[in-house]
Amino acid sequence: MRQKLDLELVSLTKRYGGTIAVDAISYHFYAGTYACLLGPSGCGKSSTLRMIAGHETVSDGAVTLGGRDISQLPPAKRGTAMMFQNYALFPHLTVRDNVAFSLRMQGVDPATRHARAGEMLELVDMTSLADRLPAQLSGGQQQRAALARALITKPDVLLLDEPLSALDPFLRIRMRAELKKLQRELGITFVHVTHGQDEALALADEIVVMNDARIEQAGRTRAVFEAPKTAFVARFLGSHNVVSIPEGLVAVRSDALEITSVDGAKLPGTITNIEYQGTHVALTAAVPGAQEVTALLSDKDFFGNPRELGEAIGLDWEAEAAHALAG
Ligand code: ADP
Ligand code: MG
Repeated sequence: MRQKLDLELVSLTKRYGGTIAVDAISYHFYAGTYACLLGPSGCGKSSTLRMIAGHETVSDGAVTLGGRDISQLPPAKRGTAMMFQNYALFPHLTVRDNVAFSLRMQGVDPATRHARAGEMLELVDMTSLADRLPAQLSGGQQQRAALARALITKPDVLLLDEPLSALDPFLRIRMRAELKKLQRELGITFVHVTHGQDEALALADEIVVMNDARIEQAGRTRAVFEAPKTAFVARFLGSHNVVSIPEGLVAVRSDALEITSVDGAKLPGTITNIEYQGTHVALTAAVPGAQEVTALLSDKDFFGNPRELGEAIGLDWEAEAAHALAG
C-alpha cells in the first residue's frame, strides 16, 4: 500500500509583473479527493495549477505534498502530473510512444517502458489503438491517451486543466463519468480546473470557488451549493436567485421558489419569460428593485396551473430556504 499524501497550498502567490494572478491562497487537499477549482476566466485557476505542477514559478508561499515543500522541484520530481487542455500529444509519435515518453526521458529501457505503457493503455481502454498516431484518434481517444501519458509516472496528484473543454457536449458527459471512475479506481488526488459549474458539481468531492485571484469559498461540494456565502458564489454556481429583500441580501434556490397569488407573498413579480426545459419549466419574473428571479417548477406543477407572460404573481419561499449573503 503506498502512502497517501495530502497536497497543501500555503499562501500561494503568483505575480506576472504588476498583475497578481493568484493572491496568497491557502488550501488543504486531503489525499484521494476529487477537487475542482471553479471560477470565471482569468481568476487564476491555471496559474494555480501550473504552480502545483512546477510549470510556473511560485512568486510567494509554497506547495507541499505529504508535508514536503515541492515548490522548487522540477515537474518530474514532484509526484504530480499534468494533463493539458489541448492534450499536447506529440503528433509524430504513436499512442504507445506518447504514453511511454516520460519513461524514455527517465532512461527506462524500451521493453519495460512499452510494457508500462501497455498497462496504462489498458487502464484507459485504448489497447487496440496503441499503434495509431494522435491525428488518427477522435477527441475522446486523444483525451484517454493524454490521461494514460500523465498517469504513467504514478503521480500522487493528477492535475487537469479544463480537460473536457475540447469535447462536444455528449462526449463531455461521458468522459466526465470516466474521469470520476478512474479517480475512484486509482484513489489518488485529482485537481481539476473548470469554469463549468455543472462539471464541478458532477465530479467534485470538494469545490474551490475562485474569484479575482482569491478563494471565495471552498468545501464539500454539496455544502457549498447548499449554503453559498457570497452573491458571487450563488450566481456562479447557478440555480440560485440573489435577491435583496428588507431583511438583507439573500440567496434562494430556484427550485425553492413557489408561485402564489400576490397577496401575502414575499415578492410581487411580473412574468417576463417562460422556458420549457422538458422535465421542468423555468419561469422568470421581474421583481421590485430592477431584479429578476427564476423559479424552477416541475412540469406537473406548471402545467397543472399554467401561467402567462405578463401575468402578475407572488413569489414565496420557506424562511429556511433563504441564505444570507455577505456581499
Ligand atoms: P484562469 O485559468 O482562471 O482563466 P489564469 O491563471 O490563466 O486564469 O490567469 C490569471 C491572470 O493572470 C489573468 O489576468 C491573466 O491575464 C494573467 N496571466 C496568466 N498567465 C500570464 C502570463 N504568462 N503573463 C502575464 N499574465 C498572465
Ligand atoms: Mg485557465
